Amino acid sequence: MQRKIFVRPAVEALEAYSPGLSITEIRERYGVDRVVKLASNENPLGVSPGALAALERAFGSVFRYPQSGSPRLAGAIAARHGVSPDCVVLGNGSDEIIDLLIRCLAEPGWHNVVTFKPCFSIYGIQSGLCGVELRAAPLREDFTFDWEALLELVDERTSLVFVTSPDNPSGYCPPARELAALSARLPEGAILALDEAYMDFAAYEDGDPEARLAEYSMLPRFKELRNIVILRTFSKSYGLAGLRLGYAMMPEDLAVYLNRARLPFSVNILAEAAGLAALEDEDFRLATMKAVEEGRKQLQWGLEDSGCRVWPSRANFLMFAPPVKAKLGGADLFEALLRRGVIVRGLKGYDLPEFFRVSVGRMDENLFFLDVLRELL
Ligand SMILES: *Cc1c(COP(=O)(O)O)cnc(C)c1O
Repeated sequence: MQRKIFVRPAVEALEAYSPGLSITEIRERYGVDRVVKLASNENPLGVSPGALAALERAFGSVFRYPQSGSPRLAGAIAARHGVSPDCVVLGNGSDEIIDLLIRCLAEPGWHNVVTFKPCFSIYGIQSGLCGVELRAAPLREDFTFDWEALLELVDERTSLVFVTSPDNPSGYCPPARELAALSARLPEGAILALDEAYMDFAAYEDGDPEARLAEYSMLPRFKELRNIVILRTFSKSYGLAGLRLGYAMMPEDLAVYLNRARLPFSVNILAEAAGLAALEDEDFRLATMKAVEEGRKQLQWGLEDSGCRVWPSRANFLMFAPPVKAKLGGADLFEALLRRGVIVRGLKGYDLPEFFRVSVGRMDENLFFLDVLRELL
């Protein structure tokens, strides 16, 4: 039977988020034994042992609804960062909070959202779904941020400005003082949403986390600036990507609305238990930071040794471009890597068809990737 489904034009126009391929998919498709996935910036050490133990203890509680708003976890996060619990909003991944911000702050057909291009695709997908105009200022050629170009797109109908720091996919991390200057120049009513999904990695480098945090993160300035939202996640440095847990810190009067608008139980009871335990497992977090810092160096040297161009990164991934005269590039190289069991991220979806992003893995995974790449080039 022929039947026409009506969907909103904004939905019809949507392009789906394209996630990294899974290990099972590649194993089945190419019949390879060893598959190394370095595509989604997951934690190279897996999951925190403390979180794992807490999950096991929590399994028996899954017949219960969680406490709405997860006040215990919100309290623990607030204590960790030295902010009021009323400023903390939790979500089913920080993706949910990005979505909530757009839905709560931007009136469809009236407001606009401003960001850089290329950027994390969720900002555009969720704006599109809401029928909110997304304006994107091109990054500079070296992937640093052109604040003037960004501000040119901002007007009195701008409700949100998204800046990712450190940036995805380049790994570039702007100094916090530039972000503070940006926040001061935004019109009344516009919110600067700082996506700090990878900030832990930036702050660790060179071993003095406190000094680095003040240099790069807006968290130390959170209390003095009333128009910023800081987004963080348990997906990367805490190794809980599959459980879906993210959070944001924002002015209390804004947090109230997001908490009302959110589906009541979007943070499930296991995510809550694991999040609480992961916050306590400082050993695991520090081991992660160390592994990422070492692996990032290892990958950078190896890639440069193969003649690739590598961009400086403060995150747990590196963006690179193979040499122009290499045997393989772009889609062909991506496919050849898959056939050999290596999953990286091709950046075609970011309009960078000749570029790749590789997540920092364990030492042996990084070596496997580098060996395969060198052969293919
Ligand atoms: C990974 C990532 C996130 C985190 O997403 P979750 O929904 O918390 O898993 C947010 N922003 C950027 C730029 C990311 O790369």
